[in-house]
Amino acid sequence: MNEQDAKRLDRLTDRVLDIASVKTGKPSKLKVSQDSIERLTEAVNIMQESMLGSLLDRAEMQKFELAFENASDQIVITDPEGLILYANKALEKTSGYSPKQVRGKTIGDKSLWSGKMPSSFFDGIWRTIREGKTDFKGEVQNRRANGEDYISEIHVAPVLDSSQKVRYLVIIERDITEAKKLEQAKDNFLSIASHELQTPLTAIHWHVEMIKSQDFGPLNAQQTEFVQTIEQITKQLSGLVKMLLNTSRIDVGSVAIKPEPMNLKSVIETVITEIQGSIKERKITVKQRYPAKIRAIPLDKNLIYVALTNLFANAVKYNKEKGTISVSVEATKAAYRVRISDTGMGIPANQQDRIFSRMFRADNARMANIQGSGLGLYITKWIIESAGGTIGFTSTMNKGSTFIFTIPFTGMTLRKGTKTLE
Ligand code: ADP
Repeated sequence: MNEQDAKRLDRLTDRVLDIASVKTGKPSKLKVSQDSIERLTEAVNIMQESMLGSLLDRAEMQKFELAFENASDQIVITDPEGLILYANKALEKTSGYSPKQVRGKTIGDKSLWSGKMPSSFFDGIWRTIREGKTDFKGEVQNRRANGEDYISEIHVAPVLDSSQKVRYLVIIERDITEAKKLEQAKDNFLSIASHELQTPLTAIHWHVEMIKSQDFGPLNAQQTEFVQTIEQITKQLSGLVKMLLNTSRIDVGSVAIKPEPMNLKSVIETVITEIQGSIKERKITVKQRYPAKIRAIPLDKNLIYVALTNLFANAVKYNKEKGTISVSVEATKAAYRVRISDTGMGIPANQQDRIFSRMFRADNARMANIQGSGLGLYITKWIIESAGGTIGFTSTMNKGSTFIFTIPFTGMTLRKGTKTLE
């Protein structure tokens, strides 16, 4: 090969390398001192590799696009300002708008499905995502193109670049209107059923009282025993109905909160006095520890009694005979922290995460045949959280449990509602 041919080959090699580096994005210079043919062969190899790579990317991308397009949930991708860049087919099914119609508009556009939500809602989402750089999950009230309202659950996830700046937002939305309707029907049923059960129970209670009074004739020993059994069962049933009613009121959102200055020490002492019967029956010792001074905090009297009664009733019934209950109140910087410890059966470690769920009862409690509905802690948690507090516990099997909750000094805030808890 003459020198001119070699130069031509080198120029060709450089062009091949240029093309390859456009594809791979990195410069691929080969040594000029290499033999021209060898250089060209290597350059072609590099180009082939880079082209295969890009073919592969495209095939992978097509797979992703196909999966996105056909996903049953609505997927929308926006720029950091919420400008819609992409929407999949499911968008049309849920909102009635076609992906074409929405592309180029912003996610909070009043003319689109999201027009029902106030702009402050979207401001909140953007703040969580842009400032917190975390996902946002929530429920939204939407309106379809045909004017029909629907509810969806949204999950907004930011896609960050290497400098941690938000590049895109991926919004996944699921229509939960039907699930919500079912939940509503269940809530209504619970509300009606518990309400309807209460009336006959009250009637049974009064009739039992009348028989017991013996105003309508004397009772023999066996009849007295039967009446006592009916009375006890009616009491249990009333307790269950009360819990169901309370749960239903919480779920429907009709509970009013009327805060008034309350002293936690007096509330605890009253609750202990009220359940003195069962404390004595189980021969339990109660130890109490309070700070020298306790300030009154705004709490709804009824609600705080319900919460504390549930916790104390549990500390008694899940305790061992002749066990101990230790209660302490301590002041932290901005809240009171209350601990209620028992020396009872404990909560199995593998079930502890479900203990505040509605109607959940641990295996050991059910096996021991201890009466309960699994609603007390669900209600208690709602009450404590309504006061801006937190509740948790630690527990060791066959040793005991300690329930700890906090109530900020700011206490509860007034809330209008039609019902109170019992
Ligand atoms: P209930 O006591 O009526 O079943 P709760 O909602 O008050 O309902 O409690 C839920 C479950 O948590 C109970 O069934 C029991 O398994 C467990 N639990 C609650 N408190 C205690 C406790 N102090 N010791 C052991 N288990 C407890």
